[in-house]
Amino acid sequence: MLIGIPTEIKNNENRVGLTPGGTELLVKQGNKVMVQAGAGVGSGFTDEQYAEAGAILEPSAEKVWSAEMVIKVKEPQKSEYKYFRKDLILFTYLHLANEPELTTALEESGVTAIGYETMVSETGTLPLLNPMSVIAGRLSVQIASHFLESHNGGKGTLIGGVPGVQNGKVVIIGGGVTGRNALQIALGMGAHCTVLDVKPEVLTEIEEIYGTEVVTLMSNSLNIEEAIKDADIVIGAVLIPGRKAPTLVSEKMVSQMQPGSVIIDIAVDQGGIFATEDRTTTHDDPIYTKYGVLHYAVPNMPGAVARTSTIALTNATLPYAARIAKLGYIEAAKEDDTILTGFNVFKGKVTNPDVAESLDKEY
Ligand code: NAD
Repeated sequence: MLIGIPTEIKNNENRVGLTPGGTELLVKQGNKVMVQAGAGVGSGFTDEQYAEAGAILEPSAEKVWSAEMVIKVKEPQKSEYKYFRKDLILFTYLHLANEPELTTALEESGVTAIGYETMVSETGTLPLLNPMSVIAGRLSVQIASHFLESHNGGKGTLIGGVPGVQNGKVVIIGGGVTGRNALQIALGMGAHCTVLDVKPEVLTEIEEIYGTEVVTLMSNSLNIEEAIKDADIVIGAVLIPGRKAPTLVSEKMVSQMQPGSVIIDIAVDQGGIFATEDRTTTHDDPIYTKYGVLHYAVPNMPGAVARTSTIALTNATLPYAARIAKLGYIEAAKEDDTILTGFNVFKGKVTNPDVAESLDKEY
């Protein structure tokens, strides 16, 4: 199979869909891998490294997109829709519940679009979302503490406090992969941490690991409102797979927070959980302020640590990409339920029930 790896064009997206190591494996399997010249530079991989791994280096994005399967990181941007065509297999993050225009473009062109974020393993985990969620969770606290600093517009709180001074308070809404990784870092920095989730078993697991050091609360409006009033950092880490994120934090709740506090909505890629969020932000211009509270709403957070993210992503996607390349997507989906669950659009139709329901499409 001819596989194309285009340069990512989303703002400050420095990741790339495949490492030179992954390229070598796919080439050894008998595939041709066409990498857009310079695609790996943002992740610290040179064209020479791809060439040594057996890739064909190609300057033109159009040519790379003409491959049978395109492996990417982020959802295609508007200027890439022109490359869509009936016989193209697109293997990437899609987040279609929040992308109605992209969904229509995929339907109209007949692309087979396999989305990393809806692929479910036998044990019910999300193996291709997981590595980026680990990264986004860990990164969220690092970023939030940066914006808490006075010269960055924050309230000037040191998360770990000092002897004689109260430490910072971090509230994490959603105790899944991103939430727990944010928790791990926040605790490591010495913060006072509260986690809210709707699943009692999630809260029980967190208590089993951390004991009463972490406050665990059932996620409902009342508890969220009380918990975030005096929080320094609030992290949105909720996911209902394939669906738009629910609005859990109202304007009133945000208006009651202290000025200079920081909201990081990791779930912004699924639409976000804060009513005060009227737009996504970018790595170039990551923050806006409402009710004196700093809002960070970057949908591609792992792009900020591109090297770690690219390697972690290829580690996760490669076995599936290799199976699709070897068997073709139909046989691969028949053999492997995880690949089947990745089908978001097939032959002009939305094939993921949650995406269809979110976008009011026929399924
Ligand atoms: P996950 O499935 O591991 O965890 C989600 C958690 O949310 C679950 O524990 C679930 O019980 C909980 N939840 C559901 N409804 C809730 C509610 N009403 N209140 C509180 N908790 C609720 O998912 P994840 O891997 O942690 O991903 C979370 C989000 O982060 C997703 O939208 C994912 O796409 C996104 N994400 C964003 C970035 C980025 O760069 N912005 C990077 C990676 C992941």
